[in-house]
Amino acid sequence: MWNDLLLFQTVVDVEGGVRLVMESALSARDRVGVQDFLLLENYTSEAAFIENLRRRYRENLIYTYIGSVLVSVNPYKELEIYSKQHMERYRGVNFYEISPHIFALADNSYRAVRTERKDQCILISGESGAGKTEASKKILQYYTTMCPTRNNTHSIRERLLQSTPVLEAFGNAKTLRNDNSSRFGKYMDVQFDYKGAPIGGHILNYLLEKSRVVHQNHGERNFHIFYQLLESGHSELLRRLGLDKTNPQQYHYLVKGNCPRVSSISDKNSWKIVSKAFSVIGFNEEEVEELLKVVASVLHLGNTQFGEDEFGETHITTDTQIKFLSELLGVDGSFLSEALTHKKIVAKGEEMIGPLSLEQALSARDALAKAIYGRTFTWLVQKINQSLAFQVKCSSVIGLLDIYGFEVFQNNSFEQFCINYCNEKLQQLFIELTLKSEQEEYEAEGIGWESVEYFNNKVICDLVEEKFKGIIAILDEECLRPGEASDITFLEKLEDRLGGHPHFVTHKLANGKTRKALGRDEFRLLHYAGEVNYNVNGFLDKNNDLLYRNLKEVMCQSENQIVKECFHTDELTDQRRPETAATQFKLSLAKLMDILMSKEPSYIRCIKPNDGKQPGRFEEVLVRHQVKYLGLMENLRVRRAGFAYRRSFEAFLQRYKPLCPDTWPNWQGNLSDGVSTLVRHLNYKPEEYKLGRSKIFIRFPKTLFLTEDALEI
Ligand code: ATP
Ligand code: MG
Repeated sequence: MWNDLLLFQTVVDVEGGVRLVMESALSARDRVGVQDFLLLENYTSEAAFIENLRRRYRENLIYTYIGSVLVSVNPYKELEIYSKQHMERYRGVNFYEISPHIFALADNSYRAVRTERKDQCILISGESGAGKTEASKKILQYYTTMCPTRNNTHSIRERLLQSTPVLEAFGNAKTLRNDNSSRFGKYMDVQFDYKGAPIGGHILNYLLEKSRVVHQNHGERNFHIFYQLLESGHSELLRRLGLDKTNPQQYHYLVKGNCPRVSSISDKNSWKIVSKAFSVIGFNEEEVEELLKVVASVLHLGNTQFGEDEFGETHITTDTQIKFLSELLGVDGSFLSEALTHKKIVAKGEEMIGPLSLEQALSARDALAKAIYGRTFTWLVQKINQSLAFQVKCSSVIGLLDIYGFEVFQNNSFEQFCINYCNEKLQQLFIELTLKSEQEEYEAEGIGWESVEYFNNKVICDLVEEKFKGIIAILDEECLRPGEASDITFLEKLEDRLGGHPHFVTHKLANGKTRKALGRDEFRLLHYAGEVNYNVNGFLDKNNDLLYRNLKEVMCQSENQIVKECFHTDELTDQRRPETAATQFKLSLAKLMDILMSKEPSYIRCIKPNDGKQPGRFEEVLVRHQVKYLGLMENLRVRRAGFAYRRSFEAFLQRYKPLCPDTWPNWQGNLSDGVSTLVRHLNYKPEEYKLGRSKIFIRFPKTLFLTEDALEI
C-alpha cells in the first residue's frame, strides 16, 4: 500500500496546473524545469515562470535564459560550477547546447568581440544582495583565465582582478540587505587587442553613498576600509595615524549602526588582500600611507566635538583631533578650526566672516568628511585607471555594468530617487535595444516584423529629466533660492507644475483617492516597476551638496598629495555655480547611455531568493516582486511576440540532421534547401517557422521542444 503511494507524486505543472504522476515517470523537465523561459508553453503566466525558477533553484540550477538574457538566482552557498574545467566546458559552445551558465554568456560576448569586432556590454541588474557584483567578478575571472595572453600582459590581468578588492574596501559596506553591499555604481571596460588578449581596463564610478561616512542605520556599518585599518593596521602605522585599535567603538563615525563586527566578514583577511592588491595595482608605500592618512582623518573629524561659550559662540572642544587632522591632512590647525566654526560669504565682492551655530558647525564638519571621502574615492578610481591604461593598441572592449537595482524602502529619499531614475534609464535602453535589435534582425533576414505592445517608460524618464520642466530642473531651481526655498516649497512647485501628470501624485493631488497612504511631505512616482513614495526632506541639501567656501580653501592648501589633487584652487576662482548632485548624476547617466548604446548588449538579471541570506530558501512573494520590477515577464512577451528561436541554417542542420534520411549524414546542397528538406520531413507547419536569408526562425517553443525530444529517442 505504502509502496504504491510512494510511486505517485503531485506535480505543480510549470503551466500552473496540478497533476499526479508516477515518480518513475517524472521527466527531467518536470524536475528541473525548462532551461529557457521561451520554452514555457504558458509564457504569459507569472505563476508558471516562478514555478520554473523554483524547480531549478531546488536542483541548484541557478541560471535560466530568456533567449539571450541570463536570469540568475543567488544560491547563497558556494557551488562547484566555477572551476577552470567549467570555464573550458563553455568555451566556444552555443547557448542551447549546454546548461545555462554565466560563463556561456561571457564566452558569447567574447566570441562576438573576436569574430565580429563589435564592442559588447554586459548589463547586470537586480536588487541589493541579488548577486550582481559576484556575477561581474565571475565574468572578469573568465576573461582573465580563458583569454590568450600577450607576453607583457600578465600583470594587466592581475591588475584587472585586483582593482576589485581595493574598490570594494572603499566603496562597499555591510548593510541589512548584503554584508558586502556596493554603495556605488560601476561600469568597467575590459579592453582586448586584435588577438583577443585583455590588455587594459577603464572604470567609471557613479554616485557613491557618501552619507554612510557620517551615518549608518541600525545594523549597518561604515565602509569596510575603516574596520580593516583599525583591525589589522600595523601598530606603528596606527600610531602615526593617531588611531587606537584597542577600542574602535570610540570612533563616532563607526558606531552609528551599532554593528562593529559581521560574522561573514574577516576584516583581517580583507586587509591582507587589499594590501597586496595595492602593490599589484602599483601603489608605493608612501602613496598607500597618504591614502590611509585621509581615511584616518575622516575618523578624527568624526571625533571633533564642539561647544558653546557664554556668548553663544561655537568653538572646538577636542584639540587633539585638530592636531591629528592638521598633521594628516597637512593643513594649518588654527586655520582649520576657524573654518570649522565660521563661514565665509562673498557678497557684492566683499568677504564676510560669520560664526556658525553649534548645529551648523556639526553639519559643516560632516560635509567636510563626506567631501574628503567622496573625492578620495573618485581619485582612487582614477589612480586605478592609470594602472589599467593599455600600452598596446586596443581593438575592442567588453563593458561590465554593475549598478544599483531599483530600490523601495520604508522611507525613500534623494538617493533612492536617483537610483530609481537610473533604473528607468536602463529600462529605456533595454526597450530600445531589444526591440531595435529584434527589428533589425528581422529586416536583415527579410522577415516581416509584427509590432508588440509594451509600456514605453520614456514618459517617466522625461518626467524626471526634461529640461526646464522635469523634477530635477525644478529641484535645481529651488536650490538657486537659498534662504527662500525649502524642501516643502520644492514639493509645492512640483505639485504646481506636474499636477495632472499620469505618473506623479502627491497627498494634495491624490485627494485621498490613493490606495497607499501618502504623507504631506511626500511625492509618489509611478515607476515602470511600481509605485514609490519619496520623502522630500533633505532633497535640497543633498542636491546642493555644499561645502563652505573656507573649508574648501583650507583643503586646497593641503600638503597631503591626495587631498591636494582632490581640491583644486580653480574651484575657488570659478565664478560658475557647480552642477548640483542630481544634474551631475543626470549628465553622467546620459554619457553612460551613449557608451552602452554604441555596444551590443547582453543582460544578466539577478534575483535574491530570500531576505535571510540563506541557501535553499525560495520566498515566492519576494521573487515575484523582483520578476515584476526586473520586467522579466515583459521581456519574455516581447521575445515571444516575434520568433521564440532563431538559428543559423548551419547550426540547425548540424544539430538535427540525424532526424531526416535526406540530410544524414551530410547534406550536399545549399544550406537553405537542406533546412527546408529537414523541416518538411519533420512536418513543421508553415505558421510554425520562417526561413530568412541565413537563419531559420521558429515561432513556438513547442516545435523546437518536439524536435529536441525526437533527438533523444
Ligand atoms: P549590492 O547591490 O548590495 O551590491 P549585489 O547584487 O552586488 O548587491 P553581491 O554582493 O554580488 O550582491 O552578492 C551578495 C552575496 O551573495 C555575496 O557576498 C555572496 O555571499 C552571495 N552570492 C552572490 N552570488 C553568488 C554565487 N554565484 N555563488 C555563491 N554565492 C553568491
Ligand atoms: Mg554589489
